[in-house]
Amino acid sequence: MDLSTFVDRLRSGEAAKFPTDANTLAFAQQLDSQDSIRHLRDEFVIPTKASLKKKALDGRIPGGTLPSVNGTAHQENGTGSGNGSSADDSEEQGIYFVGNSLGAQPKAVREYVNAHLETWASIGVAGHFREMDNSPLAAWQDMAEDCAKRSADLVGSSPHEIVIMNTLTANLHMMMASFYRPTEKRHKVILEWKPFPSDHYAIESQITWHGLDPSRSMVKIAPDEGTYLIPTAKILQTIDEHAEETALLLLPGIQYYTGQYFDIPTITAHARARGITVGWDLAHAAGNVELRLHDWDVDFACWCTYKYINAGPGSIAGAFVHERHGSVEWPDEDGINGTTRPSYRPRLTGWYGGDKSVRFNMDNRFVPTPGAAGYQVSNPSAVDLASLSGALSVFNKTSMRELRSKALVLTAYAEHLMDEMLREAASSPDGKTPAPFAIITPRDPAQRGTQLSVMLASEHLHDAVSAALEANGVMCDKRKPNVIRVAPVPLYSRFEDVWRFMQIFRSALGLGKAS
Ligand SMILES: *Cc1c(COP(=O)(O)O)cnc(C)c1O
Repeated sequence: MDLSTFVDRLRSGEAAKFPTDANTLAFAQQLDSQDSIRHLRDEFVIPTKASLKKKALDGRIPGGTLPSVNGTAHQENGTGSGNGSSADDSEEQGIYFVGNSLGAQPKAVREYVNAHLETWASIGVAGHFREMDNSPLAAWQDMAEDCAKRSADLVGSSPHEIVIMNTLTANLHMMMASFYRPTEKRHKVILEWKPFPSDHYAIESQITWHGLDPSRSMVKIAPDEGTYLIPTAKILQTIDEHAEETALLLLPGIQYYTGQYFDIPTITAHARARGITVGWDLAHAAGNVELRLHDWDVDFACWCTYKYINAGPGSIAGAFVHERHGSVEWPDEDGINGTTRPSYRPRLTGWYGGDKSVRFNMDNRFVPTPGAAGYQVSNPSAVDLASLSGALSVFNKTSMRELRSKALVLTAYAEHLMDEMLREAASSPDGKTPAPFAIITPRDPAQRGTQLSVMLASEHLHDAVSAALEANGVMCDKRKPNVIRVAPVPLYSRFEDVWRFMQIFRSALGLGKAS
């Protein structure tokens, strides 16, 4: 069975139609053997069963193999750096299905951070402007811009529409400071009923900060009674109902809990046609699905880089500002008495948003860098940017199209094996056993990313499954009371991992062994 056939079917909106032997290790391994990006797994450090039990540092990295600066793998022997190989190279790797929460560590991150540390140690302050010949890194001053370039394919925009700065919630505030400008008439923000709490707090506090009343100015879209997903039609209808009074629509690209991937182009076009500014929180979408923010005419977007982008916990975040908002216009004629000032979209400013050519003139007249870069405020952390550069270097070895193709099949495969379990449970001898779980993520592959959210029938089952997963070196996200979120990230997950995961899951559910 051809991997590309499944990709084609899923891309054209058909079912994958897995064959009857799909529930075998051989089938999974056969798909892996056809996977053109399977080598990218070697770019990551995947925790092992043994490393997951660590309680103290021992100077060892799971797997022990690190790439050298010129890209060929070598064994670090640990002398000096203290991070060498171990005798446990053959240790069994765990199953890392939690990249929706914190991506696995790319080996390049260590390499890039080390390059940064060597640069800083060797040339000190000169590192701001001097690029070292054989370093994978740009000079510190240019690293944010370099990361913006490396991020363009991830969000589908020009590098000039991307700014790398701060962290996600901070950027939501920075963007709202510029894009949420309530008036007497237009003051509402449309959001979903249960966004990631930080987004709710940010929106609520912006409204309060403008002296408005959240109970009047927040419009929350909820799923229909007894369901978890929010239909596009319902979003469009809510936009219509509040169109005249709405200043901003701010939704997640992919909902963190259900994994629902919203129809960004349709919703954006609908809201913008009604004079509403549109922002997207892409925390769960960036590095996961194919985005086209520029073409979709989105006003702004924000994302973090520690989930699907793998830059490490709390790493520096990204934001998109559509090119139409980034222009800096100079008056044709010199103004009177030299008071000419450029015009640009109002924002909260700081010196790093100032044009590089005049940044160090230390002049009090703010002249923003054209494009999204003009939204920066501070000197960004070079160690953070080094980490992000390393993480993005792995994406730059493939494309979002290739990653998404694999992800469509990986996730459909996981869904297929889960559905088989449900069929098996339903045909149990007593015939009355309630389904042990339900998949609450959309069944339509176009409406989800890699994540499947699985709601277990009881809290008790949730505990049992969580314990079984942990005991077997499986990392996935468990949300009390009874949901597990399973994300087979295509960069470092194999079909074999999906198959193995399902063996552990089915035995935790008390179902029989698979063939
Ligand atoms: C992960 C996530 C956050 C986290 O925000 P930080 O500012 O990075 O701590 C916020 N919003 C959403 C939707 C998320 O998924």
